[in-house]
Amino acid sequence: MTSTVPSSPPSFASSSRPDAEGHFGPFGGRYVPETLVYPLQQLEAEYWRAQQDPAFQQRLSQLLREFVGRPTPLYFAERLTRELGGAKVYLKREDLLHTGAHKINNALGQGLLAQRMGKQRVIAETGAGQHGVATATVAALLGFRCTIYMGAVDCERQALNVYRMKMLGAEVVPVHAGQKTLKEAVNEAMRDWVTHVRDTHYILGTAYGAHPYPVMVRNFHRIIGDEARRQILERENRLPDLLIACVGGGSNAIGLFYPFLNDAGVRMIGVEAGGHGILPEQHAARFHGGSLGVLQGTRSYILQDEHGQIQLTHSVSAGLDYAAVGPEHAWLHDAGRVDYTYATDIEALNAFTRLARTEGIIPALESAHAVAECFKQAPKLGADKLIIVNLSGRGDKDVAQVATKIGLQMPM
Ligand SMILES: *Cc1c(COP(=O)(O)O)cnc(C)c1O
Repeated sequence: MTSTVPSSPPSFASSSRPDAEGHFGPFGGRYVPETLVYPLQQLEAEYWRAQQDPAFQQRLSQLLREFVGRPTPLYFAERLTRELGGAKVYLKREDLLHTGAHKINNALGQGLLAQRMGKQRVIAETGAGQHGVATATVAALLGFRCTIYMGAVDCERQALNVYRMKMLGAEVVPVHAGQKTLKEAVNEAMRDWVTHVRDTHYILGTAYGAHPYPVMVRNFHRIIGDEARRQILERENRLPDLLIACVGGGSNAIGLFYPFLNDAGVRMIGVEAGGHGILPEQHAARFHGGSLGVLQGTRSYILQDEHGQIQLTHSVSAGLDYAAVGPEHAWLHDAGRVDYTYATDIEALNAFTRLARTEGIIPALESAHAVAECFKQAPKLGADKLIIVNLSGRGDKDVAQVATKIGLQMPM
């Protein structure tokens, strides 16, 4: 089998998408207060300049290699493959990166951009705390002052990450509004940015928000897919049949998917949080009950009631627990290029312990959603098929929570 790119590639990954205003078809755009329009235009202009600048790219590559730990391995999960009795399963090991998840790819890229723009301070929102830790780490590395907004409920659920951020010198501000989780933290970060935009850059943590964030964040993460493509070609001499990744805002998934979008033979599945099941306020599966709307700067699929009020969401994993999904995923969904499904809390918890015991890898609860889908897909595919699962992060942050949920006893 050959791995050549088709001579007239379909345009799923195309330089005309998003358009100049950040639209992916009917999705995306820039829905912000007027005071943020100019800062976003400046950010966009500087980002495109940096992307063309070999010195910037070289600095980024060097730090990705020496500080972050890239490239990550593409690991053949042999025992798991045998147990599932179907397709060969490969894991893209983003869990091995510095700070424990893919988020540092984007945090570092935006940090270098902020430095280039002469900013002295960075701010970020965080849910599970992984993006907050990545941002605090980059702030320490590059010498920025740093403030992280985190819902008060999430601060309690993810106390370890709050300590890590403080250890790294960041100020952590608990947000007590509303549901006290990620959505409210984003609101506070936006408010801070509007007020301090002259010296502050907002390092948004996923492929979401107003243009240029979705395209910029995707481009900082596409290294995941670029590496995976090279690695599978080296190892198997052909492209994979199926890619699987979990989808919160959508950054790790689009990072893996993007370099394969024009390869018609590569199927892709994004896995959302099914929570307790698809009932109102019991999940965060935007493609299973969401509808078109505008939230926090962009137009996409959103979980909202018939009056446009944002619905409460639930997931065992804080990183997937968000009412909206990135606009490029919304477009890929409607274009039929990527399939979106969900894993429930219970399926994710099962995948978490099963991967730990079969392969000696404790995944993040977010990543466990992708692993759960792999358990369903691999046995249905023949032994000649190849699956790549994006293991977006490691599960250290989740171990205490899972131990409680599955009733592990401390030895006395
Ligand atoms: C934040 C996070 C996610 C979800 O965010 P995406 O932007 O959808 O990738 C998934 N996995 C891990 C480990 C995370 O920390």
